[in-house]
Amino acid sequence: LSGRGAGVRLENITKRFGDFTAIDGVSLDVRPGEFITLLGPSGSGKTTTLNVIAGFTEADAGRLLIDGTVIGSLPTHKRDLGMVFQHYALFPHMTVAANIAYPLKQRRVPKARRAPLVQAALESVRLNDFAHRYPRELSGGQQQRVAVARSIVYRPRVLLMDEPLGALDKKLRDRLQLEIRRIHAELGTTFVYVTHDQDEALVLSDRIAVFNRGDIEQLGTAEELYERPRTLFVARFIGEST
Ligand code: ADP
Repeated sequence: LSGRGAGVRLENITKRFGDFTAIDGVSLDVRPGEFITLLGPSGSGKTTTLNVIAGFTEADAGRLLIDGTVIGSLPTHKRDLGMVFQHYALFPHMTVAANIAYPLKQRRVPKARRAPLVQAALESVRLNDFAHRYPRELSGGQQQRVAVARSIVYRPRVLLMDEPLGALDKKLRDRLQLEIRRIHAELGTTFVYVTHDQDEALVLSDRIAVFNRGDIEQLGTAEELYERPRTLFVARFIGEST
């Protein structure tokens, strides 16, 4: 499933809900193949930023570019991206293989080409033996791995993840963090990952964008944020990790 990652560039993105400004002129340059995490407290604008990239939310101002192309109001399914959410939302009446094949059907990939893609996606998440099982027969962690397989099966060049481990207990979270790191390394896809968990961000990311009140307070590697926090907020927020 190897594929190049795409660059994702946000230029001065603003999104308001009524009188309330959820994100206020956010700019961010994600390099092709990078693992970037949007980290910050609840309500700081991380999900809104991700939703603008996904096309779920239309920005009031600013531009989004993927690989240098202005995206405008292109619908979500025409953007070259995959998505994983906290709630994996698999179809309960469909097998694992059918769940993973679903986006291929949506994208009108010819039937003959679907099986090898599903197989490769199952291999990526190490669930080869689970193709004919049903979601209810799997643990939460395994279901989330199916959701990851479903999001990468059509080989998007950008993968967006919104608190994908949020519904899992600590031990599973730790295991899946390693899985996510490995999958990122194997695919070469650009990952944009949302979490409020400092430790998760530190373990996973090439770079971290620290959000506060609708804007990015600092962008840097874990080391930079620890050693050279630019604001008191960053020092305190990063310092809260255990
Ligand atoms: P985070 O992901 O960092 O927790 P969000 O991006 O979800 O933050 O939300 C940022 C702010 O925008 C929050 O105060 C939230 O209540 C508000 N918000 C998000 N979506 C909507 C919406 N659809 N309508 C009104 N307010 C919203």
